Amino acid sequence: MTSRTPCFGGNWKMNTRLEEALSLARSIDEGVASIEASVDVVLFPPLPWITGVAEVLSGCSVSLGGQDVSPHEDGPFTGQISAGMLLDSGCTHVLVGHSERRHGLDETNTLLNDKVLAALEAGLQVMLCIGETLEEREAGKTGQVVSTQVRECLSGVDQGSISRMTIAYEPVWAIGTGRTAEPTDAQDVHAQVRTQLAGLYDASIAQEIRILYGGSMKPDNAGELLQQTDIDGGLIGGASLHSDKFLSIINASTTQGSAE
Ligand code: PEP
Repeated sequence: MTSRTPCFGGNWKMNTRLEEALSLARSIDEGVASIEASVDVVLFPPLPWITGVAEVLSGCSVSLGGQDVSPHEDGPFTGQISAGMLLDSGCTHVLVGHSERRHGLDETNTLLNDKVLAALEAGLQVMLCIGETLEEREAGKTGQVVSTQVRECLSGVDQGSISRMTIAYEPVWAIGTGRTAEPTDAQDVHAQVRTQLAGLYDASIAQEIRILYGGSMKPDNAGELLQQTDIDGGLIGGASLHSDKFLSIINASTTQGSAE
């Protein structure tokens, strides 16, 4: 872990019914409130529960985000949700480029770049997901895939806006599969992304941006991942649906020494 404030996202995907979502948000918030160390936590519930969860989290330190955003501001886009709508519903954050959208819905880097720009323009903070498929990893293309995703998705994001972004490195083959990247392999990719950010922006900006790991992060593997110099927290799917597991992962970050 590093001197950057650790950050954890809980991506609930298309899970929970209303009462479950509200009580999960309540217990996560209570747990986070009892953590003395500084940590940022963002919950990404299903869209219909956003305003209810916003009420639960009102006045709390846990933030709220949408799982996706339209690249458009308004208009004839049935089923899409604009950045302004997310803000009005109590969101401060949004996920862009989750692999279930990149690969399940064919979202391209170009579309994701438009979403990033629309969200930043509206004032949201963006958690951009990147990561290679198993096929790409086995072909030795991880570095190239991730670097293209970073370059293309951040196109047009200026120095003034980049501080409102977090990058989540999520190897696709590790999401929801129970397989986790080796901590040192994940560290190598995180370090590569940080070096690339230094080239695109500058070294001090690159040092400030949080790069999270995602992919079957659990209480029993979080400690070793979070010990890595360039892993600044986690984007958690399955384990974020259980407040005890999610809180235990967050707590693992508070017990790591500073590596910088
Ligand atoms: C995710 O959905 O971003 C994710 C990392 O899921 P899981 O933790 O279940 O692998």
